[in-house]
Amino acid sequence: MKKLQTELFVILIMALLIQFCSLVPLTGRRQLSLVSDADMLSTSFVQYDQFLKENKLSTNTAQTNMVKGVGKRIQNAVVTYFARNNLSQELNGFVWEFNLIESNEVNAWCMPGGKVVVYSGILPITQDETGLAVVMGHEIAHAVAKHSNERMSQALLAQLGGQTLAAALLDKPQQTQQIWMTLFGVGVELGAMLPYSRLQESEADHLGLIFMAMAGYNPNGAVEFWQRMSQNAGAKPPEFLSTHPSDQSRIRKIKSEIPEAMKYYKR
Ligand SMILES: [Zn+2]
Repeated sequence: MKKLQTELFVILIMALLIQFCSLVPLTGRRQLSLVSDADMLSTSFVQYDQFLKENKLSTNTAQTNMVKGVGKRIQNAVVTYFARNNLSQELNGFVWEFNLIESNEVNAWCMPGGKVVVYSGILPITQDETGLAVVMGHEIAHAVAKHSNERMSQALLAQLGGQTLAAALLDKPQQTQQIWMTLFGVGVELGAMLPYSRLQESEADHLGLIFMAMAGYNPNGAVEFWQRMSQNAGAKPPEFLSTHPSDQSRIRKIKSEIPEAMKYYKR
């Protein structure tokens, strides 16, 4: 009897989860979704502005222009890719923005809706525009594949009993904001960032290669970038590396995807 009850309970939970799963057209994968795109975007825009207020924008004009220029080219590639695949509506509500902040941290991220931040500490590793395109293409791929919606939903389920984002914002605004910050490693201790899953990392690598190639950057630069990143590990690995493990299997997988990406590469 007890066993039957447990089984019924498991079935009930599974049914609930399936109901809250939605198909993400870009990846063709079902993702847990306790958040609406509208709630996700409005939260993102508020949190992004807050982050910019609390951090120092770079005063290096050349580097700032490079970040904005590479970002704009990747943005155009994403818009073209989505249009070709009849997915343009998936970018509704995006307000793209690219900023370089002054920080020794080796990091970069893209919040939902195209809100990108690059930390100046990653520039010695990206080295040039192509290296920067690897990082920005990868982070933008996480955003357009709605990985943060998925991570936010998982955190809401684990920490706030499966509340929707809208309900959690009303009910527990501070805790909800805290969860948001751990998604991007913003305003919390280093290493407290919620890592992406292996599957999400693979999806972002794959899409990132295509986006950078369409933007006119040689995708082979991705292999070189991840090799430099892994050499940078040292005793105290940077934030970016702890959430983006650059082991040999990752680099091997990227290499195997280069021929496909080269088809999109326009010099
Ligand atoms: Zn990633």
